[in-house]
Formats: sequence, structure tokens, C-alpha cells
Amino acid sequence: MKIKPTGDLALIKKINTAIVLEAVLKHAPLSRAQISELTGLNKATVSSLVQDLIDSHLVLENGPGQSSGGRKPVMLLFNGTAGYAVGIDLGVNYIRGMLVDMEGNVIAELQRGLKQNSEQQRGLDLQNAELQRGLNLQNAEQAIDQLTSCIELLIKEAPNSPYGIVGIGVGVPGIVDDNGTILFAPNLKWRQVELQKQLEERFGLPVTIDNEANAGAQGEQKYGAGRGIPNQIYVSVGIGIGTGIILNKELYKGTSGFSGELGHLSIEYDGKPCSCGNRGCWELYASENALLERASLLGYESLEELLEAAAEDDERVVALIRSIGDYLGAGIANIVNVFNPDVVIIGNRMSRAAQWLEPAVQAAVDQRTLPYHRERMRILFAELKDQSAVRGAAYYAISTFFSKIKSGQ
Ligand SMILES: [Zn+2]
Repeated sequence: MKIKPTGDLALIKKINTAIVLEAVLKHAPLSRAQISELTGLNKATVSSLVQDLIDSHLVLENGPGQSSGGRKPVMLLFNGTAGYAVGIDLGVNYIRGMLVDMEGNVIAELQRGLKQNSEQQRGLDLQNAELQRGLNLQNAEQAIDQLTSCIELLIKEAPNSPYGIVGIGVGVPGIVDDNGTILFAPNLKWRQVELQKQLEERFGLPVTIDNEANAGAQGEQKYGAGRGIPNQIYVSVGIGIGTGIILNKELYKGTSGFSGELGHLSIEYDGKPCSCGNRGCWELYASENALLERASLLGYESLEELLEAAAEDDERVVALIRSIGDYLGAGIANIVNVFNPDVVIIGNRMSRAAQWLEPAVQAAVDQRTLPYHRERMRILFAELKDQSAVRGAAYYAISTFFSKIKSGQ
């Protein structure tokens, strides 16, 4: 079979353009000559491809750089404001949204409580303390309306740019399939919600949906405590517990994208029943919910109140947070023995209690892991605080845009 030479050349050009763009993204500021050195492409090819990228508004020239003598080279930069992306962290009882530029710089942000649906609220399973407080919304439709209005507000904040809004990324507290359908979100009590399809139809933009812990792991790997660290396990401790696994700097998603449901590790053989159908799951003992359930006996109703009391050295509260830290450490010890990671990053809302959690988590991990595994392993708290997932979700939208550009779509 004969391959048409024109098609072949077009393909080679696409591949080379992708290589040049990658070089600019990773190493900017750099000169055309440096790109040529880095990529092995000849200077004429590099010049022509760089010109294409400048014409497509993806690359900018930024004045002369350092010269080893002779004429100073013009340095190239990635055009971070070529477009913007929306990131959303859909929590069990809140929506957090951000508009970022193509380099992940935050342009606008908003946060809202999810309104409850009183009719459904009455019929709730009341084992979940946060649900008892009536903060949750069980009705996916209503939540998606709120989500949509948040996205609209963020899109309005975007400055004019050549590519406009390049995409929307959403992190959700549940199991998501390849088509962006939420199969099951136990703490929201959602099943089979076609979120990606609905948002794509509504906005006409590429939409990426992933589990919030995966999004958080991406956020920390790209912009936070995990920068440059190859093997990291991100433990998202909020109402429930989820984990995002980064191996060799890549998110590990498993065969169907369902990896990381470690909040449902069994840690008590005959423990409390969980909304997943199992008993004694880790998140029933080590999450914000577990903390609030026990704190209600002391008369506290929110994490914020508890943090205030701990800061004032309320011994009962400090002891309670430590006890949660002990459970948290027990689960982390299992993870460390399985994955032998460089770091475990504790993120999401409970990372705000880092000061009191850390000694207890560290002690439990020291006590329960194999000595070889903990030798080089560090426990860190999320650098992006509550924003790991929303920043990671926005990054999904940006990276989807880049993979499209690179594959010439
Ligand atoms: Zn469970």
C-alpha cells in the first residue's frame, strides 16, 4: 500500500510541532537554537514551527536572552493567556470553582454551599453526621443547576483571549467512568449521573470529570507539595476519604479508572456499617465526618469550631483530633506498605488540622509500617490547602487542550 506523501508530511509536521511546543512548555524561556539542541530538529525546521506557534498565539517572543557572544537570541515563552480553563471541586456540601489561565494562575474563584433539598432531606439515612445537619443535597439535578451557574459566573470573568475558555474540569466525590459518568457517589448518594455529557451539551466545551482525590493528587503534583516527586499518594480527608495515586509522575487510574477507593479499606473487622455496603471502612474512623460525629458529644458542630478550640489548647479537642490522627495513620501505614511511596500528602479540609494531626499520624505510621518502607518516606500536608482538587480539575482542562493541540485535532 502506498502512503500519500502529503499526508505523511502533515503527520510529521504535527509530531514535530508537538515536540517544539512541549520544549517551550517545559523549558521556557528558551531560544530557537536551544529548542534545536534539545529536540534534535534542525534550526530551519524549528524556526518554521515556532513561527506557526507564534501565529497560533501559543508562543510569544520575549526580547533578547543571554548570549555567549555575537547577536543576542530572542527568547521564547509560552503564552499563558492564550486561553482560560474552569476548574470545579464539587464537594458533598460545597462547590468551589476557579478560573485559571493556561499556566494555572488563578484569575477568579468562588465558593458556595450546596443548597439542600428539604423533601429528600427528610428521607435521609441519618448515619452520616453531616447529613443530619441538613447541609447536603441529594438531588443531582438541583446540584447541577448550581454547578452550571457557578461555571457561567467564572466564564464571565475570563478576559478576551485567542482561545477563550478551552475546557472545564470537575472533581467529584465518587467513582467516575471513562465517559465522565458518576457511577456512584456514596456521600452524595448519587448513582449514574451523566455529568460530562450534561455539561458538554450545556456549554459546548470539552469537559473532564474525575474523582476529587485524583484531581487533588494532580493539583499537588503540578502546583503543590508533590512538585517533582515521582511517587506520591494523596489522601483527601474531607467528609469521606479518597486517595489519588501518582506513580512515576503519572496518575494511576487502574483498568477502568476506579483506583484509589482506599477510604473503604476495611480497618475494623466488625466495625460500623458504611454507605458502600461494607463494614469498618477507614473513612468511618478517620474522616472529618468521624471527627464531627465524636465532637458532637463534646458540643462542637463544625471543623472550624474545633480548630478554634484546639488553638486555645482545649485538651479534650486536641485529644480527639489526635485520636482521629491515629486512625488516619493506621490507614496510611497500609498504603505505605503497599506502594512504598516517596511521600504521602494529606489534603482536603482536614489538612487544616495539620498541627495536631501530624504527630499522631507520624507515630501511627512509625509503629505500623515496615522499617524499610518508611526509611525515605515523608508525610506532608497539602500545600494548596483546600484548593488541591479545584486546581487539579482546572489542570485537567488545560492538559486536555494541550493533548488536542499536540495531536493536531
Ligand atoms: Zn465503605
